Amino acid sequence: MTQELYLDLRGVRKEFGAFVALQNINLNIRKGEFVCFLGPSGCGKTTLLRIIAGLEVQSRGEIWQGGKDISLLPPARRDYGIVFQSYALFPNLSVADNVAYGLVNRKMPRAEINQRVSELVKLVGLPGSEGKYPSQLSGGQQQRIALARALATRPGLLLLDEPLSALDALERVRLRSEIRALQQKLGVTTIMVTHDQEEALSVADRIVVMNHGVIEQVGTAQEVYREPASPFVADFVGKVNVVPGRVRDGVLEAGTLRLPGDGSDREVRVYLRPEDVLARPIADGDDHVFDSVIDKIEFLGSYCHVHVSTSALAPHKLTVYLSLNYLAEAQLQVGSGLRLRVLPERIKVF
Ligand code: ATP
Repeated sequence: MTQELYLDLRGVRKEFGAFVALQNINLNIRKGEFVCFLGPSGCGKTTLLRIIAGLEVQSRGEIWQGGKDISLLPPARRDYGIVFQSYALFPNLSVADNVAYGLVNRKMPRAEINQRVSELVKLVGLPGSEGKYPSQLSGGQQQRIALARALATRPGLLLLDEPLSALDALERVRLRSEIRALQQKLGVTTIMVTHDQEEALSVADRIVVMNHGVIEQVGTAQEVYREPASPFVADFVGKVNVVPGRVRDGVLEAGTLRLPGDGSDREVRVYLRPEDVLARPIADGDDHVFDSVIDKIEFLGSYCHVHVSTSALAPHKLTVYLSLNYLAEAQLQVGSGLRLRVLPERIKVF
């Protein structure tokens, strides 16, 4: 990835009748960057992708790609390849003809097309599949072919609209890392729309978190997870415990806990990630410690979601993550007492 600006969205707004789907979107994407638009259903992420593709026309604002104003160009005159959620392959065309589609339109000589097609099906891990038809392929294989088709003309921009959401969990994880590897190999600037935060965290250079037609935050996976800019981002990206508290004279009070706080005196909401509430190490005399009782243990393989009750905080429920080894070693089960410690530097206050 370079520092070179490639895609520049300036004040993009979209209205559908009286409904405002996108408010005032300003976003810079660098050449070679992999960006995810992440947000709940209806937040406008697909609409924004479709505006970049020219499949939807913005009500206001400009789109610049590679230093050119493309705001009003029809889709066919823009430089991108796109993959949709449902396999949009032509069912009556072979894999080869599907992949060749854009190349035929560009009147590339047949021999060159054949060579490019075999290169592409190899690139997406399906060499020799040229003669097959979409119905003979699994969902994941169809998406790989759709990806090959999108990349055929060597577009400057790859647009992916929830390309993995129709696949089963295993295939989704496999294909997302293949897409990431391919994207890095080709260096193609890529935007993927997803509502799956784990997907976004795992592949993106930067994540654009959207809600109700506005961008809430743009940042790396670590930034949006560790330093959420708003309660919405903290809630939407990853799991979080929220407890009410207040700041008084530079002290953050949450239940019986006294933590370092700053700013003016006010009521706040304290955001605690489950992994930032520790069961060990805790030594006598440690600060920010409280007692709890285990209500429920959810087994998730190597670690567990442990739900606890405590009179130290209100509301009294928290979720923490503990390893199975630790639970066994400390002989913890439902009903056991559990002393916990909050990492004050990891707390977010809104
Ligand atoms: P999802 O993941 O459910 O697709 P999204 O974040 O991609 O959600 P969009 O599809 O961009 O959301 O839609 C944003 C909002 O705009 C929604 O409230 C949707 O109902 C509305 N919308 C989208 N397209 C149209 C349209 N053609 N006419 C009217 N409203 C629309």
